[in-house]
Amino acid sequence: MRVIVCENYEEMSEQAAKLVSSQLILKPESVLGLATGSTPIGLYQRLIENNKKGEIDFSQVTTFNLDEYYPIKRTNDQSYYYFMNEQLFSKVNINPENTYIPNGETKTPNDECANYEKLIKMHGGVDLQILGIGQNGHIGFNEPDANLNSKTHLTNLTENTIEANSRFFTSDEEVPRQALTMGISTILKSKKIILLASGANKSRVVSALLNDAINTSVPATMLKVHPDVVLICDKDAYTGVRLGVDIGGTEVKFAVVEGGKILYRSQFETEKDSADRFVEQIAEECNKIRKEYPIKTIGIGTPGTIKNGLVSASNLPFKSYPLGKRLKDYIDMPINIDNDANCAALGESEFGAGEKYENIIMVTLGTGVGGGIIIDNKICHGKYSMGEVGHIIIEAKNGLPCPCGQTGCWEQYASVTAFIRQAKTAALENTDSALYRIYKENGEKLNGKLIFAALDEGCPVAQKVFDEYIDWLVVGIKSLINIFGPDAIIIAGGITKQGERLVAPIRERVNNSDVAIEVSELQNDAGALGAAML
Ligand SMILES: [Zn+2]
Repeated sequence: MRVIVCENYEEMSEQAAKLVSSQLILKPESVLGLATGSTPIGLYQRLIENNKKGEIDFSQVTTFNLDEYYPIKRTNDQSYYYFMNEQLFSKVNINPENTYIPNGETKTPNDECANYEKLIKMHGGVDLQILGIGQNGHIGFNEPDANLNSKTHLTNLTENTIEANSRFFTSDEEVPRQALTMGISTILKSKKIILLASGANKSRVVSALLNDAINTSVPATMLKVHPDVVLICDKDAYTGVRLGVDIGGTEVKFAVVEGGKILYRSQFETEKDSADRFVEQIAEECNKIRKEYPIKTIGIGTPGTIKNGLVSASNLPFKSYPLGKRLKDYIDMPINIDNDANCAALGESEFGAGEKYENIIMVTLGTGVGGGIIIDNKICHGKYSMGEVGHIIIEAKNGLPCPCGQTGCWEQYASVTAFIRQAKTAALENTDSALYRIYKENGEKLNGKLIFAALDEGCPVAQKVFDEYIDWLVVGIKSLINIFGPDAIIIAGGITKQGERLVAPIRERVNNSDVAIEVSELQNDAGALGAAML
């Protein structure tokens, strides 16, 4: 498969128009396979212009469209028949009798399909097929798990497609439940195929197309067996291979990422003493990976604050350390650095639970409370330490001291460390409780898991601790919602393994139907994935 990566949608359309135009110049009686949807509209506009300028001639061209809803009237403005006339046929010098689209009005769909195959054959087959690609990898109406060897056929639409379409139709009965579509084997018989992909929401499927083996869950991967396919996509759809580095207090994680998919990963222990030695190790691993993968950019997430390029992190040997500059001594390519919590939020926003939202706040519960704020799909930055949600002050008087220098910071009440401390205090005050017994049995220690074990036994003391902990969490989350008005709050950290048990009471007490409250999908991978996307 040849891949052409373009700057934007306009350039993608221009490139495709060039290929189609030269096809028509070389063979005026070409048979074109055409597609509908928003992606090829720019291509069709350029073909119309070229036709008007007299550069290309459609008078001897025959076209076969990929698909059509079933049943649907040709006069319905949602029909592909209508679309093709609007977007192309009525504006070029094509003979309408030479334009074929599966007939959505037929009473005998199976005959229609068989006849369609015959017609294509009669015209000597398709010379050049234009294809778009669905977010889930479908081409035509060949949805995932379709029969990959199929010819033109009647197919049921997926519930998702039916639902997405319903807004375009005036009544529910009008919404088509089926479609007539060329099959994969029909498409593969075309002599040449141009596949178009535009926009970030196609990046995952483009990556799957380029990296995955042929499989039924991404029908487009079947195109790999065709000897002459050109994929033309814009930069948003083709993210390229990127390297994300997630520096942590205990280990450094490396992930080679394309379109949200991790192609390779490695890690090593964090060097605690020498910043220079640590940087050397990171650079060495980056360069080793670059020998194996065509890395386009490197993104690095680090704990702490980044001020004028200088990194300071209490759990790392970085004290006002020029991390980017030092790395550049060893690595000759663009390197982007951001705070690790911001990176995790970006990763979650691009590829995880935040994918369907534009504005999210990620709250990570651990030894502290970390946070990242994504507005309009971008990290929200202040001068140097925006997103330190753990240090919003929620207790004005007699607040607990925080290492940041303030008192009454949210993380002193809502971190997992705080949860365990609260449970331990309650256990010691209630020596007849199950919580105290569990504390004793485990060498006078508690952790999140043990507290939940006490909850499982129905321990009222543990229940009270948990309820109060949720209250502390909700206080901060409500403030964040009031300030930023996000679409969703995504909660991460080991404690979220409890799933709905943790999130449902938060949701209930936040009591705001405009804001989704969800658990992180990526968890430990969020940081490296987000760093790769910097
Ligand atoms: Zn603080």
